Amino acid sequence: MANDAVSPTSDVIHRNGLQTPLDSSPVLEKSNGSGFLAQISDNPFFTGGLGLAGFGAVLAVGQKGVRHSASLIKRRLLVDVEINVKDESYPWFLYWMTVHQRSQLPSFSRSATLSNGKLVRVGLIESLMRHLTPGIHHLAIETEKVEHPNGSVQAEFTLIPGPGKHIIRYRNAFLMVNRLRETRSMNHSTGIPWETITLTTLYSQRNIFEDIFSEAHQLAQQSSEGKTIVYQARATSWEKFGDPRRKRPLESVILDRGVKERILSDVKGFLGSAKWYYDRGIPYRRGYLLHGPPGGGKSSFIRALAGELDYNIAMLNLSERGLTDDRLNHLLTIIPRRTLVLLEDADAAFSNRRTQTDDDGYRGANVTFSGLLNALDGVSSAEERILFLTTNYVDRLDSALIRPGRVDMAVRLGEATRWQMARMWDRFYGEFDEQGIFKARFLERLELHGLINPEHEEKKLPARSTSAAAVQGLFLYNKGDMEGAIAMVPGLIPESQET
Ligand code: ADP
Repeated sequence: MANDAVSPTSDVIHRNGLQTPLDSSPVLEKSNGSGFLAQISDNPFFTGGLGLAGFGAVLAVGQKGVRHSASLIKRRLLVDVEINVKDESYPWFLYWMTVHQRSQLPSFSRSATLSNGKLVRVGLIESLMRHLTPGIHHLAIETEKVEHPNGSVQAEFTLIPGPGKHIIRYRNAFLMVNRLRETRSMNHSTGIPWETITLTTLYSQRNIFEDIFSEAHQLAQQSSEGKTIVYQARATSWEKFGDPRRKRPLESVILDRGVKERILSDVKGFLGSAKWYYDRGIPYRRGYLLHGPPGGGKSSFIRALAGELDYNIAMLNLSERGLTDDRLNHLLTIIPRRTLVLLEDADAAFSNRRTQTDDDGYRGANVTFSGLLNALDGVSSAEERILFLTTNYVDRLDSALIRPGRVDMAVRLGEATRWQMARMWDRFYGEFDEQGIFKARFLERLELHGLINPEHEEKKLPARSTSAAAVQGLFLYNKGDMEGAIAMVPGLIPESQET
């Protein structure tokens, strides 16, 4: 064994020509197996290091083991759910959390009147909340400004759970909510940072997620029940425009005799015939064109129709600067569910030229005629598409637009007719004028000023015309004052028609 150990060394010795006696080499002596072990065991530094290394290794294995078992326990005992900011349930959940906390604290949300831009000391409330709220210690504020017709601005603000970790109690379970904000990644069109919320609870309590999400969904529905959500195009997506608005009753929009019923029954017929379309492989879509002078009720009717059908509205003005063909096309492929599309100022697409340059040097990036047609013909992701085009200048449109699937029904909502004015009178003054005596006087005066024809000549165009919007304005001005409304009839004559 000793010889085996020395042979390589002796080889070196020979090559160097040195004749060192083998047994005189101190190194070789220590190369002896038992001698080496004895040496290292005698060396306090070495044994100390070895001990440490061993201890380190055991610790590392132990740590790994602890980590492993912690994650195993976590996996076995805990369960989490992740929601990202893109998901529909994201705002629902935040709202649910706010309401949930508010139910434990009566004054979680406040409103303050903004006068000259001054807002009530929200910071004070927030710091108060920090101390009072048991689970949520990091709050964020969401402010909604509501402008009243008299010019005053009301701010509604709600404290919602801010980014960070929150522990909340739901029934008998504890829930950890981790709202994580990614500062480096955001939606460039809205500037909203990328966020996720992770909910963690005990595996045995996992069924609370279902309850929480259905509560959150119900809450969200309640808050928009009886309301119409209006979407507006923001860059490449549809974004909610303000709070959901109260539904406009269909009866509040008075169109000429039978017009409303005709459109409504067409839309309902379309909605009831999905199978017919699918069976024939025809895109399930219907287009309407509403045209006529401003103030005839085009937009109001579409809004009221959406309310009637329990649909929302996605609005886009085709004369909007920066709306390109591609953007329009894209937007029409991502229409939210149960949403009517309203493309206003359809004529804009026919007067725009792609190369036009504005005075400020801005290169006109507007929708072109072919761009509009392509978008109308394009594939839509929604199961069905109901699209309304409106224009004040129907003569500027191209006949290629009136084709099944693009525009299936074109309706003129024109100047206010005798029939409409009488119905509008009833809506505003019906309760004070049960016999219709004042209404007869009002109609007579309209006739006198050439704004309507006598009843038997109703089909003929009167000498002058006015809009339903103007009549509404007159009635609003003379709220509860029938004499005042009758006296002001000449005010309905447009300036251009005064002689
Ligand atoms: P348009 O889109 O045709 O220009 P709007 O729908 O914007 O007209 O109407 C402007 C205003 O006039 C709204 O406040 C609306 O309530 C009122 N109005 C217009 N037409 C009618 C109508 N036919 N019935 C009731 N209100 C109307």
